[in-house]
Amino acid sequence: MRDLADIARFRPDDPDELVAASLVCPVCLSGTETHWHLEADGYDPSAQCECQRCEQSWRVYLTPQQALRLGLMPISTL
Ligand SMILES: [Zn+2]
Repeated sequence: MRDLADIARFRPDDPDELVAASLVCPVCLSGTETHWHLEADGYDPSAQCECQRCEQSWRVYLTPQQALRLGLMPISTL
């Protein structure tokens, strides 16, 4: 399946719940089974996401501020 790409829609000062909500699966809209990891290196930070339910993977592009915010999330599983 082709990778989808999206841009993150949370603000750096949003609470964890909103940050998590921006990473829900675009296919089944499940946030609870999304696994993601942050790739904060380089000019184009992003989070590689994968849905455990429907096996869709996608990438969410982040601003540097959003990447820092995502790095503060307590766990990498929503
Ligand atoms: Zn899904």
